[in-house]
Amino acid sequence: MTGQIDIHSQLKKYFGYDSFRPLQEEIIRSVLDGQDALVIMPTGGGKSICFQVPAIVFSGVTIVISPLIALMKDQVDGLNANGISSAFYNSSQDSREQSEILKKVRERDLNLLYVAPESLSLLSNVLSEEYVSLVAVDEAHCISSWGHDFRPSYQRLSFLKTKLPNTPIIALTATADKATREDILEQLSIPKANRFVSSFDRPNIEIDVRPGLDRIKHISRFLKDNTEESGIIYCLSRKSTEDLSEKLTKRGFESRAYHAGLTYEERTKVQEDFINDRIKIVCATIAFGMGIDKSNVRFVIHYNLPKNIEGYYQEIGRAGRDGIDAQALMFYSFADVVQLRKFTEGASNEEVQISKIERMQQFAEATSCRRKVLLSYFGEELSKDCGNCDVCKNPPEFIDGTIIAQKALSAVFRANEGESLNTIVDVLRGSRNSYILSKGLDRIKTYGSGRDFSWFDWQQYIIQLANQGLLEIAFHKYNALELTPLARKVLFEGMKVKLTIPQRRDEVKNKKERKESTDPRKSGLFERLRALRADLAKEKSVPPYVIFSDATLKEMEKYVPRTAASFLEISGVGAHKLEVYGELFLNEINSYLNQQKKEKAHTSTVSFELYNEGKSIEEIASIRKLQTSTIVSHLCKCFLEGKTVNMAALVSPEEVEMVRKQKENLGNPNELKPYYEAFEEKIPYERIRAALTVLMKE
Ligand SMILES: [Zn+2]
Repeated sequence: MTGQIDIHSQLKKYFGYDSFRPLQEEIIRSVLDGQDALVIMPTGGGKSICFQVPAIVFSGVTIVISPLIALMKDQVDGLNANGISSAFYNSSQDSREQSEILKKVRERDLNLLYVAPESLSLLSNVLSEEYVSLVAVDEAHCISSWGHDFRPSYQRLSFLKTKLPNTPIIALTATADKATREDILEQLSIPKANRFVSSFDRPNIEIDVRPGLDRIKHISRFLKDNTEESGIIYCLSRKSTEDLSEKLTKRGFESRAYHAGLTYEERTKVQEDFINDRIKIVCATIAFGMGIDKSNVRFVIHYNLPKNIEGYYQEIGRAGRDGIDAQALMFYSFADVVQLRKFTEGASNEEVQISKIERMQQFAEATSCRRKVLLSYFGEELSKDCGNCDVCKNPPEFIDGTIIAQKALSAVFRANEGESLNTIVDVLRGSRNSYILSKGLDRIKTYGSGRDFSWFDWQQYIIQLANQGLLEIAFHKYNALELTPLARKVLFEGMKVKLTIPQRRDEVKNKKERKESTDPRKSGLFERLRALRADLAKEKSVPPYVIFSDATLKEMEKYVPRTAASFLEISGVGAHKLEVYGELFLNEINSYLNQQKKEKAHTSTVSFELYNEGKSIEEIASIRKLQTSTIVSHLCKCFLEGKTVNMAALVSPEEVEMVRKQKENLGNPNELKPYYEAFEEKIPYERIRAALTVLMKE
């Protein structure tokens, strides 16, 4: 029967999208066929659509079970904003509200009803196949004690299949290993569910890992390049979230700290201010983000190395959920590793945790495409390098590092394998600090043999040696460097070592590149639409992205719709939103276009005034930072409007005659290019324009 239902037109009508994202259509068809489904999709992959579209098609209600009560209101707001009748049900509502909702269910007046598992029992009167068409279990990994976020209330859900044997159940999660997947199916009694595992790749997130030096400076520069954008900075401890937030705020980047030590009210306030774009930057522990469905988070920064790849990937997945470019920046230092390893001491699964830290460290030290490393961790192969990570953009240069390695290893050997990385670098560089002198390290043979490399380079080389298994860091002996058996092969048996040249980020260059690339998010129309959206969001007390996502505003800016029909073609604009917001946004776009026109008219007047002051074309161009051809076109425009411009200074009478002839030959084309080509590129565009202007005035 699903063949007859046009789910594409439902998608366009209610969500404004022209096409489904990978797997969504297959999943929806399977659900509409009445089959159970297990959906594994990364955060931001578009999970909700998989049950929301069937919910519109089905005549009964779709019950959505979710542990994230904080998130329910936003989701319901978002659905209602799209014209989809939705509600949530919980114990905070009064009995009148509750019975109103139940009445709607019985009258088949509700498409979706969100409920936390502990409130399900309150719905027992309507939990029958007469009213319920579909059950969606969101964040389904909470069901499994194998998962990382187990919730006991989720374990009582097996009754659903007994009570509603013919109603399809769809279980959805962003993270589930094999054991958890099987557990979900078993606990929900849906062993025959169709399984859908979508790609974990999020190509719009740029991945960048930098050495953990001068973090505040690097973050400040990063934020300067990303003003007006929302982002999260993850820190390891409560205290560091507060310290960082204070430092950034002092530098003019207003931010808030968020951690489990704050009161419930304080945390809710930070979260809501962030969702509603009232604050842009949150410095948080990993407690932050679980209940946040904010589509326009543009960056996620890790101030320290995270403790495992699962967590890291989930956290960066909170950026760019609207599909537009987003950035994930991570800082990494050896001190982070030391601290993380300390945290694991004495834990029951210490070994598992340590191996996870080691995988994280390998990711941070990767010399090949980082996205490949990440996805292979999740069992997925990427056929090509991604081109959107720091390694792809700045591939490391390999050199023969045998002599460098010998110097460093020899220094470690002569310091009796009892000194830390910093001290070994000091020895190599011949530092005369009091520690070196007091320990007599200035008398060993390798002292000062590495003066030709900077401190930074040596530090990076030694880290590479450790990663290649030539050095070990004795975490229990004040992080002293020790030689491995492999190191002895380098020292005594002539084994060769390959190293990569340490890269310091050339930030000036990066910044310049970014400035030059035209970022449509920064242009005038986008800002105006964003401001309008903010006003509307405030008026309706919903988060701005519930009205339109950044991706939708960006499309409006790109295609500049001026009619209702063209507005409806924008991705993210459905019939309901056209009706509610169409006129407001179209008015804003038209008023922007009118203003542009005026400014254009004005800009030629500015050039003309400078011209009247006696400035040359070149001088005007340099003052206004415009091309000379632009200035000439301004003056031509003024000439046509009747202002006095000495056209003979812009083009010779001979050239005017040549252009006149070509104009006849070419059949009076609208463009300048045919003239330019006809003259074999010998007369520049600006003189052709001037000549045509003279001819036009005749
Ligand atoms: Zn890459």
